[in-house]
Amino acid sequence: MTERIFNFSAGPSMLPVPVLERAAAEMLNYKGSGMSVMEMSHRSKVYDSIIKSTEASLRRVMGIPDNYKVLFLQGGATMQFSAIPLNLMRTGKADYALTGHFAKNAYKEAKKFGEIHVAASSEADNFSYIPSQAELDLTPDADYFYHCANNTIFGTEWKYCPETGAVPVVADMSSNILSKPVDVSQYGVIMAGAQKNMGPAGLTVVIVRDDLLGFYPQDKMPVLLDWKLMADKESMYNTPPTYAIYILGLVLEWIENEVGGLEEMQKRNEKKAKLLYDYLDSQSFYHPAARPDSRSMMNVTFRTGDADLDAKFVQGSIENGMTNLKGHRLVGGMRASIYNAMPYAGVEKLVDFMQKFAKENG
Ligand SMILES: *Cc1c(COP(=O)(O)O)cnc(C)c1O
Repeated sequence: MTERIFNFSAGPSMLPVPVLERAAAEMLNYKGSGMSVMEMSHRSKVYDSIIKSTEASLRRVMGIPDNYKVLFLQGGATMQFSAIPLNLMRTGKADYALTGHFAKNAYKEAKKFGEIHVAASSEADNFSYIPSQAELDLTPDADYFYHCANNTIFGTEWKYCPETGAVPVVADMSSNILSKPVDVSQYGVIMAGAQKNMGPAGLTVVIVRDDLLGFYPQDKMPVLLDWKLMADKESMYNTPPTYAIYILGLVLEWIENEVGGLEEMQKRNEKKAKLLYDYLDSQSFYHPAARPDSRSMMNVTFRTGDADLDAKFVQGSIENGMTNLKGHRLVGGMRASIYNAMPYAGVEKLVDFMQKFAKENG
């Protein structure tokens, strides 16, 4: 086996090595069951304990209040772009903040189902910043306010939970869930695809306040988009993504027992991000893409300003044991995704390489 590489992928992305080792050790025979978790009936006793304990861990780690349901679904964050308006629209009005590609995709989908008001947009500045509370143009009687908590492609992150009065706040936390503590009670709905910070692709977590369930303006709700049904069936209306849920359970154990919870996780993440941003601010060869007050702790975007040099950088990084540093085509340049599982040593190695590359090419 070759050595593991520092994988800066935006998603699917790195998982903690102890999690992979544990999954490997339990691959053929999970706790005396004589089978892999992949091979188990989702209705079996042994699997029931896996899904129940994963939910209990998520509730402990995130401090999810009892009046919130936790749903383990499929279809990615993208399926929730459809489920959100379908489940939350009562009067048919919602506010959306457009701060990136995925926020815009969510907005486009919601427009099929209701009257959507753009509460703020940073598109004119290529989504390089997050609007302030004062910049939000809110509808007082909207059914919900939608925002994307971390903009994976552009490298910006909301540093606050918007204040919207009685209007429930909906957040796509696909790329920053579990990176820091959040006060779940400030949100009506939190949703996240697993493949950035929680586990493998195939699992989507929805955390929803229970008083928001069960209001549909239409009688033709597709069953798999129906949060109320999924809550009543404990995410088992049909087969849930069994193996991905198991891996999430291991990731949560790692956060709880090895990292020491989300406050510690945040400290680690801040330390990594600071190393990279401090370096970016100390030089002039690379140009950070996001406005300083809006920078993401998870996805760091930068460019040299010369597409050929950017390509040379990406090629050179691969030769130096790092991969997936090419930026998304909508931003260009480079993007380093430094999720929970990226070790500090990976960011050190990246900064070393950046210094060397700047010296040779500046
Ligand atoms: C990756 C990502 C998505 C898309 O997720 P899928 O699981 O591919 O549907 C949506 N929102 C954010 C913030 C993401 O990072």
